[in-house]
Amino acid sequence: PKYVYDFTEGNKDLKDLLGGKGANLAEMTNLGLPVPPGFTITTDACRSFLADAAFPDGLEEEISEHLAALEARMGRRLGQADDPLLVSVRSGAAFSMPGMMETVLNIGLNDDSVRGLAKQAGGNERFAWDSYRRLIQMFGKTVQGIDGELFDDALEELKDGRADLDLQAADFQRLVATYKDIVRAQTGEDFPADPHRQMNMAVRAVFESWNAPRAVLYRRQERIPADLGTAVNVCSMVFGNCGMDSGTGVAFTRDPGTGHQGVYGDYLQNAQGEDVVAGIRNTMSLQELEGIDKPVYDELLRIMDTLENHYRDLCDIEFTVERGKLWMLQTRVGKRTAGAAFRIAVQLVDQGVIDLDEAVTRVSGDQLAQLMFPRFAKDTGGTVIAKGMNASPGAAVGKAVFCTERAVELAGRGEAVILVRRETNPDDLAGMIAAQGVLTSRGGKTSHAAVVARGMGKTCVCGAEELEVSTRERRFTAPGGVVVSEGDVISIDGSSGLVYLGEVPVVPSPVVEYFEGTGDLDDELVRAVDRIMSHADARRRLQVRANADNAEDAARARRFGAQGIGLCRTEHMFLGERRQLVEDLVLASSDEERERALAALEPLQRADFTEIFQAMAGLPVTIRLIDPPLHEFLPDYTELAVKVALAGDAAEEKDRRLLAAVKRLHEQNPMLGLRGVRLGLVIPGLFAMQVRAIADAAAAVPGARAEIMIPLVGAVQELEHVRDEARRILAEAGVEALVGTMIEVPRAALTAGQIAEAAEFFSFGTNDLTQMTWGFSRDDVEAAFFSKYLELGVFGVSPFETLDRDGVGRLVALAAEEGRRTRPDLKLGICGEHGGDPASVHFCHQVGLDYVSCSPFRIPVARLEAARAAL
Ligand code: PEP
Ligand code: MG
Repeated sequence: PKYVYDFTEGNKDLKDLLGGKGANLAEMTNLGLPVPPGFTITTDACRSFLADAAFPDGLEEEISEHLAALEARMGRRLGQADDPLLVSVRSGAAFSMPGMMETVLNIGLNDDSVRGLAKQAGGNERFAWDSYRRLIQMFGKTVQGIDGELFDDALEELKDGRADLDLQAADFQRLVATYKDIVRAQTGEDFPADPHRQMNMAVRAVFESWNAPRAVLYRRQERIPADLGTAVNVCSMVFGNCGMDSGTGVAFTRDPGTGHQGVYGDYLQNAQGEDVVAGIRNTMSLQELEGIDKPVYDELLRIMDTLENHYRDLCDIEFTVERGKLWMLQTRVGKRTAGAAFRIAVQLVDQGVIDLDEAVTRVSGDQLAQLMFPRFAKDTGGTVIAKGMNASPGAAVGKAVFCTERAVELAGRGEAVILVRRETNPDDLAGMIAAQGVLTSRGGKTSHAAVVARGMGKTCVCGAEELEVSTRERRFTAPGGVVVSEGDVISIDGSSGLVYLGEVPVVPSPVVEYFEGTGDLDDELVRAVDRIMSHADARRRLQVRANADNAEDAARARRFGAQGIGLCRTEHMFLGERRQLVEDLVLASSDEERERALAALEPLQRADFTEIFQAMAGLPVTIRLIDPPLHEFLPDYTELAVKVALAGDAAEEKDRRLLAAVKRLHEQNPMLGLRGVRLGLVIPGLFAMQVRAIADAAAAVPGARAEIMIPLVGAVQELEHVRDEARRILAEAGVEALVGTMIEVPRAALTAGQIAEAAEFFSFGTNDLTQMTWGFSRDDVEAAFFSKYLELGVFGVSPFETLDRDGVGRLVALAAEEGRRTRPDLKLGICGEHGGDPASVHFCHQVGLDYVSCSPFRIPVARLEAARAAL
């Protein structure tokens, strides 16, 4: 295979092979934009290296050939003493993983070529020695695994309070010597002077960085597959650190927070590489760059325009200015906030760049869900203690914590925390994931904290410069002497950048109000959501229903766009005060007692159903007959036994009888016990009472459309008994209703062809189906060992959250197909929690279900994802 591609050989569609950065560098090269020449080593090479812990055959030769071609083109050799070619070695996977992997700049410098570099730069010794110390620092940290603080501390000591721009050539020369000592002390070897060895070691380190803990964590969080590998980009160096006419910056073609078109970005004069993103110094805006260097600014804007038109989307860019010449170092379709995603999609439609179909594919259910989070009230009355940049929207309230470890620890105990840092770096990732929100005192909208938080949909305020953050003392000081110590509650508003002392009340999002029908249609975001949702509804094939078991939820679901109720769980109607009636029923020792209990329940049930039918008039309502694990309705055996034992001879006769009955009915595995259809078959009259209540309620409400659903069926014979009885009762009441079943026991899926003989519809109960297919107790395992399983990569996401296509999904597909073979007009739906999960909705579309059913708040997400699946 070919392992190395020159930038002139690739293009943007080769992301899997060349990584995002490599593919886009190639694309920009082909567009004729100023990209420093270079080449990309493929992800294939990385995968092979990771498997064998060695370069694949031929890779070394191929790298040499491409390097030779690059040297010929540039007219200098790598590390050539009098006139060196220098290169950067940068990681770049198919999915962007900001700051997650490694970069080494200035490869090719050593004690000889540093002088050649100074000569190249017109005698600029300071620049040359600064570049050299940066190489040793980055190489030491990322390739040789030396603690970066050793280098940072040495630099701080040397600076002795001076700004970095005040340091002179001699200072950096001294720093190089110190850094070399650090390398020798830490590794027992000299810093490698051979440029080719430097490059080889850097390439290996980038490959290996794919499996660094923070990269593994980031991928798990973002659900990026673990086996893709990273590409490596070797690029000839251009320098932003060779004087005040040089610099480095990042830019967005639109505001990634709002989507508004304009010039957004940060620029740092006389600086190199990651200085901007790392938030090391505070940056200037691009408008200020216009004042400093108009020709460069104008060219940058032209290029941004070219890129937006070419990619037909928001792009973000990294660039460097070397002595007044602009170079493009990276571009990609940029990350954005959820709100900006909707706004940008609609703006691009209005500009005629994309059509509405494409606009629907440009947003996601996860983004929509984010927009439905509550936010702070406008007039909160809260005490504002600082204002930073609105880096990632949302309202977050929690206890201030000052390090990742505490964030993880407190969040693990269920506490809400806000991670407060001067600036974040990739080592803070676990803390950012654990926190409700992130607050930093340094860095701009392109700082690590901002970029990562936006990617995760986490609230973030960054660059709140008035705050003095002391990580060591675990507190920060705000203007006016306000001190916030670890554990004090603060609130941060990622949309306004405001930081509040204490807990600020939150209000519903305007998008939720829009779905509720009370929203402000003048709001730009609401209008964008409205356009996209209307188009999504026109494009989707899947219907969306709600899981709702009371009139209030049903009404909300309807406002949110539900086309019916797919699951009305009736056992919830038996809790609270009615529990006693159920207890009486279960423990009844005579027909008479039982009938009395049923007679008491029936009018209550009728009233429940009547309200729901009223809320959903005209739309189908699937009512599931009772499915409680028995123990949920009975007193706890142990408690009762203790009570009776303590009372001794004085124990009441009623308690003794109850204890005997509970003992008789006690189950080791209630979830596999007497529940669902089994209970209906064992307790005479229970299902019949429910069906009668449904029929009478339906008869009383104009437009009522009842569907009766039998839970936990595993054999067609079970269903036949219940169906025959239900049909008789419905006929007596003169009410028409479908009678169908849940498919939630593996045997039901495997015998779906038979079951369809007796069922007019199937609804996949994927909670139980997952539980029983994996043999995982749905109530226990997530807490018990799923984090270990996720860590081990047994699965990338809990199968209770996203449907397991390979296992449970096969049962669903099989049952759908065999059910329809028996009964071509069999209606198919899903009502497990997966019905509102984006990836699972796509699966349901693919296997041809008619509808998904989910909780009311997830209905908009399901509507959108159903359309995205269809497009
Ligand atoms: C299911 O098992 O997926 C289901 C919807 O039923 P319940 O969650 O009530 O067991
Ligand atoms: Mg179930």
